[in-house]
Amino acid sequence: MLRVCGPQARLALEKLLGRVPAPRRAALARVRDPATGEAIDEALALWFPAPHSETGEDMAELQLHGGHAVIAAVFEALGSIAGFRPAEPGEFTRRAFENGRLDLTEAEGLADLIAAETPAQRRAAFRQLKGQIGDRAEAWRAHIIKALALVEARIDFSDEADVPENLVAPALLTAQQLRAEIAAILADSGHAERLRDGLVVAIAGPPNAGKSTLLNRLAKREAAIVSPLPGTTRDVIEVHLNLGGYPVTLLDTAGLREGGEPVEQEGIRRARERAEAADLVLWVTDGSATGLSAEDKLESPFSSKTWRVANKVDLVVDKPWINGESLSAHSFAISALTGAGLDRLVAALSAHASDFFAVTESSIVTRARHRRALADTVAALDQALALGPSGREELIAEALRAAATILGRLTGRVDVEDILDVIFREFCIGK
Ligand code: GDP
Repeated sequence: MLRVCGPQARLALEKLLGRVPAPRRAALARVRDPATGEAIDEALALWFPAPHSETGEDMAELQLHGGHAVIAAVFEALGSIAGFRPAEPGEFTRRAFENGRLDLTEAEGLADLIAAETPAQRRAAFRQLKGQIGDRAEAWRAHIIKALALVEARIDFSDEADVPENLVAPALLTAQQLRAEIAAILADSGHAERLRDGLVVAIAGPPNAGKSTLLNRLAKREAAIVSPLPGTTRDVIEVHLNLGGYPVTLLDTAGLREGGEPVEQEGIRRARERAEAADLVLWVTDGSATGLSAEDKLESPFSSKTWRVANKVDLVVDKPWINGESLSAHSFAISALTGAGLDRLVAALSAHASDFFAVTESSIVTRARHRRALADTVAALDQALALGPSGREELIAEALRAAATILGRLTGRVDVEDILDVIFREFCIGK
């Protein structure tokens, strides 16, 4: 599909189709090169006059048959008309935001929806696109502005007899209620903002334990280089999985071995760093090794939550523990090569991911940016509340104004030029 938006969008239809379809009704039309009159393709054309379009501006859509030559010819035809240029990544959404069709949190929700890889991510993104946090933030801001107006009235008309004395107390009561509401949301938002990255699981262990083989097994595709030579996985490889509907990011870390050449040492350093920061470490060892070297016997060196995985059990003749009955809850015996014991490991990982994201289904905070904004709002309201009903009105007003500004930045109502580029950079061209 090709979209044209802006005040000249109508001209694009006139030039390419020779007519403009009825608003919001699909029409079958020949697309011609305006210079030569040559037919390029037959398309379904749609015309959305402002303001009833996604961006709020005039917008035309052509559903072409596609293919490189068709798209190239239509682009060239459009390029030959003065005033037309290709859209920047995210430019349609940015215009929709600038024309008030979306607030900033909804634009972020759209970016997340497009990027969503699992059902949980998709649901959270869709709720945000539909204003789940934006609408709340706007309502809170409206309440704060009302409270602020009371305090300002008290300041401006303090000499006048008909302004009631006790305007500050009701303003602070509002502040207190909002503070409680926002703090509660922050408290039970769980790991919702982690939905984007997924639960991070690092696969670590001595070289040759079978980490890359395990990762490939789990990912069901060849994402990591599997090699029989120790120390070949030199960097950190990342694979995104959907486990039971939840996003899990698996990290294959370079074999943890002292010494080695500088490149390998760098890999080891990164591996340690990533594994330390992971939500869960799968500490993989070669369960078949008989003459275990000292380092193979090492306990996991990580302070993060760690599960022990004994690999290569296919090489062990007597293996009554494969079904897990005699293993403790977070110990696993597997063969990354044959897949034995893997079901139990995958089930445990899925359950862990589901627990990790448990409350996120009802959570409205899906980004660190939102969490910070809400925490800052609570802090600003606390400042106002600390001053109390007999506190200096100017200071109370200032704290309330700060709270309103923070919420305004959250939805993009005020003063957000500096963060727009960061947010819209996430989009691809045509969105
Ligand atoms: P890494 O260094 O820990 O990433 O180990 P690799 O995944 O590269 O595996 C090292 C070697 O062990 C390779 O030759 C694999 O084919 C082999 N290997 C991995 N898992 C198993 C397993 O479960 N059973 C057997 N028999 N060999 C395995």
